Amino acid sequence: MARPHLLALSPEELVELLVAHGVPGTPAEARRVLAHVVSDGQRDLRTMKRPVSRGVRQAVEALTVDERPTVLERARDDADGFEKLLLRAVDGETFEVVRIPLHRRGRFSVCLSSQVGCAMRCAFCATGRLGLQRNLAAHEMVASLLAAREQLGPSERVSGAVFMGQGEPLANYDEVLRTARVLSHPCGGRIDAKNISISTAGLVPQILRYAEEGHRYRLIVSLHSAIADKRRRLLPVTGQWPLEELAAAIRRLHATTRDRVTVAWVVLGGINTGADEVQALQALLGGVPLRINLIDVNPIDHDAGMDSQLGRGANDPTRFTRATPAELARFLDGLQVLGQPIVRRYSGGQHRDAACGMLASRQQAAGSTPLPGPSDAQLP
Ligand code: SF4
Repeated sequence: MARPHLLALSPEELVELLVAHGVPGTPAEARRVLAHVVSDGQRDLRTMKRPVSRGVRQAVEALTVDERPTVLERARDDADGFEKLLLRAVDGETFEVVRIPLHRRGRFSVCLSSQVGCAMRCAFCATGRLGLQRNLAAHEMVASLLAAREQLGPSERVSGAVFMGQGEPLANYDEVLRTARVLSHPCGGRIDAKNISISTAGLVPQILRYAEEGHRYRLIVSLHSAIADKRRRLLPVTGQWPLEELAAAIRRLHATTRDRVTVAWVVLGGINTGADEVQALQALLGGVPLRINLIDVNPIDHDAGMDSQLGRGANDPTRFTRATPAELARFLDGLQVLGQPIVRRYSGGQHRDAACGMLASRQQAAGSTPLPGPSDAQLP
């Protein structure tokens, strides 16, 4: 049987593993081991500040694996402090993590990828063009947090995480939820659960499962349009779970969490900013307490081959740009009638290859493994 990865274990699972192999490890020892590798980001168990017995240490080393991805490249945007890391997994697949400075000095959030590539094929996202390579395992996502934390100073820390990088997090449900548990554990990432967000393009069964399981993380539903036909063109997943079903799942989520449901809306100039969208949103989700996150689209280059494959002409609504300031102001004005809080999210890191997918795109241009491009991680 394959050895479990240390970074993805809970203290209870580690004790269970030790006991199953006849090693009398205690919960306190398991917590110390995991705090050393995850909270402190260390690898060598011999350097533990509060050591465990030699028997337990040797058993942990023998019974678990601690292979971590390699950092291939770091790109920091000096204008806004965003830093994007390109990581290579043990099997050679590459994925990204972005470290985002928060308003409070010395505090950061991380934007995590959940898959290599993505199967959702959202029209405004280059990751979706490339299809799904594979899911990331929980230990790879935890390791990407550790890599993003590596160069922080003693008074700096990561206090938030968003699963909004490459991939559809709820298509990798179990591993993403396992990662969130490790990130929020006192012996793990020590990130408050309410500061962990998980996004979805609208996988209705998984949203309903999430609602029933009662997690404390925040689920963000990417809506982007409240008009069924338009949303189907922007997010093909709408074909599988129609807008009405998604709206019912959002209502269910509110009913179980008793909290506002966060919906993300990537602002596509001339496409989803009209009065018709406001009316449709009112009709679809009026009365459901929402938090609306407006996000600037990161324009991507269109290629003629892909446009023709997707049947996109020059005036096709899936060719997109950012809204003009006047258009955005009108949209914001229109949304006021909903009486819901609206948050504008900054899409950062665009000055020096730290915008979504740019590192990957460069790597691809250099001739390495095909890589995912920009995702919906239009960063908070
Ligand atoms: S926007 Fe997100 S869900 Fe859609 S294709 Fe891109 S990575 Fe996948």
